[in-house]
Amino acid sequence: MQQRVLHTAKSACPHDCPSACALEVRVLPGDRIGRITGASDNRYTQGVVCAKVARYSERVEHPERLLYPLRRTGPKGSGQFERVTWEAALGEIAERFGTIAQRSGSEAIWPYHSGGNMGVLQRYGLDRLRNPMRYSRQHTTICVTPAESGWLAGVGKLVGPDPCEMEAADLIVIWGGNPVSTQVNVMTHVARARKTRASKLVVVDVYRTPTVEQADIALIINPGSDAALALAIMNVLLTEELVDRTYLARYTDFDAETERHILSRTPQWAAAITGLAAKDIIAFARLYGQTRKSFIRVGFGFTRTRNGACAMHAVSCLPALTGAWTERGGGAFFLSFDKNQWGLDTSLINASDAVDPGVRLLDQSRIGAVLCGEAEALGRGPPVEAMLMQNANSATVAPSTAKVLKGLARDDLFLVVQEQFLTPTARHADIVLPATMFVEHDDIYYGLGHTHLTFGPKLVEPRGEARPNSYTVRALQRLLGVDHPSVGMSDLELLDHALARAGLGRFAAAAQVGWIDRALSFKAAHFLTGFPQADGKFHFKPDWSKVGPAHAEMPRVADWSPAYERAGPSHPYKLVCPPARHFLNSTFSETPTSRAKELAPCVRIHPEAARREGVEEGVRVRIGNARGSVVVPAKLDAGQQEMTLIVEGIWPAEAFLERRAINTLIGDDAVPPNGGAPFHDTAVWLERMRELA
Ligand code: SF4
Repeated sequence: MQQRVLHTAKSACPHDCPSACALEVRVLPGDRIGRITGASDNRYTQGVVCAKVARYSERVEHPERLLYPLRRTGPKGSGQFERVTWEAALGEIAERFGTIAQRSGSEAIWPYHSGGNMGVLQRYGLDRLRNPMRYSRQHTTICVTPAESGWLAGVGKLVGPDPCEMEAADLIVIWGGNPVSTQVNVMTHVARARKTRASKLVVVDVYRTPTVEQADIALIINPGSDAALALAIMNVLLTEELVDRTYLARYTDFDAETERHILSRTPQWAAAITGLAAKDIIAFARLYGQTRKSFIRVGFGFTRTRNGACAMHAVSCLPALTGAWTERGGGAFFLSFDKNQWGLDTSLINASDAVDPGVRLLDQSRIGAVLCGEAEALGRGPPVEAMLMQNANSATVAPSTAKVLKGLARDDLFLVVQEQFLTPTARHADIVLPATMFVEHDDIYYGLGHTHLTFGPKLVEPRGEARPNSYTVRALQRLLGVDHPSVGMSDLELLDHALARAGLGRFAAAAQVGWIDRALSFKAAHFLTGFPQADGKFHFKPDWSKVGPAHAEMPRVADWSPAYERAGPSHPYKLVCPPARHFLNSTFSETPTSRAKELAPCVRIHPEAARREGVEEGVRVRIGNARGSVVVPAKLDAGQQEMTLIVEGIWPAEAFLERRAINTLIGDDAVPPNGGAPFHDTAVWLERMRELA
């Protein structure tokens, strides 16, 4: 039946996806939303969004949505709650936070946010409470830190050529990402390049993803071996003089030592590490070296390993060797996440003027270790006794799940969770606060995978008593007596302040348009006036000490690092847990259409490995290591190297036979040099479940 549309409004996707799509939302009678499409007049989004956001009304109207504040009545994790008023919930939070801070010091309280909502205000605004109250700070590492570290090491800032330039490339390399499933707009620009220029698409990954299926050339490598492949490509470029020596001399720190080092990293050396044939490495290196307009779109996936920062750095060296950075449609792009590019003044939203560097910094990825009282994770400070979590489902998403669950279940932890659904994390809370969805509040979003600031205004009234995260922060600021200029400011006043100070107008006007394009000039984006390093050069020999504290183990010159979780006789397989197409982290795992499309978790096993282990299609297998084990059905698939196992999607624990989620197997040690979670770097054993087969 045709729905009557009152009007179509501009909006922006709030989810943890670098596409950060500019949206058009149909607003229907009765304060409801209809179908969502991509903004057709945004030059990056070009009318395209993923299916899960197109049907977003399913989430807004979901019958299991949290609509009222709740107070726990049963044991932690039991899901037993009673309804309370906002006033009672906030009063109790303020009283408990006050008592704990007085008794144990303010650092015993740890406000925690993650990427469930990427809004400038609704995500990062939690710091408006944290900083003035001197609560423990958060080292935000869980998603991109290893990738950021590697990019910063060579390039110097999280900027690069406009990704829309892919349309002008003759060769597009998608390295370590699966945009068909997770960043659909990239494929719009790839498709245009292929149609108008007959461009070639090469995909480097560890298994046959939907993006790999669209490639002209696919390089399926062993997990953790990306830097070895990049070094071998560099070796061929140098050996066959496919490099731009004028560019190298002018724009980089390339020297004789670097050249000698790269010449030692042969395709034969890399073949043994990557699992590729040396001839395939050489063939791709020649194609890359002979195509001046070559654009590398680097993903995040390949960096979520203990050697991931080295991998990102090594890949970013490729266009510096060929000089492809100088071309429209050339170079590489990772992320737009530089405050000068975006320009927003978020000092009031984040109360960044109130940051006390003396307050301890706790690693977001290490929440399990923090809550279990590991001294190093606690910065040798007091235990965490209270948390306010927003946009975070750590019980499913964070590494080392068993540790996280043990920590969340502590009776002496006062846990407040503001959420849209009763997630496994929220089930452990003492107080649950219902959160609005993006069409029910105002916010601004960074483009990340492109160059637009996008705007998401409030379009409909919140369901039930759901309220924005910012409401909670504002109320607690008042109840706890915070002294800061942001106290009492409305959401619109805070957003207007951030824009006005940057000369970007006002929120209401920008929201009418939907976005502000903050693209850098061609010269700046391609580093033609120098790279954003102190010496203006791209660094083959980075100063890792400027990137992160754990720099002692980083290689002096671009290199592959063997310092990752190695497969061995007792743990012969490498497990990789990439995103599923219809989920986004653990979000959308509650929506019926996403669940129906993903069906159930499974482990992809190479047929040769399956034969050796006596495993047939559909048989349940147990995969495990010292951190625990998970039972999951087998799916035979020759789309990866023989010793690689793939489990897609962050499924809730109840989707697995023994109710243990996949991140049970992931380590929570910090990736050098600056932290991050090694989600794709796990050595495991595998055995057939004979009793259940
Ligand atoms: S592709 Fe990503 S940014 Fe775009 S609508 Fe889907 S989840 Fe949101």
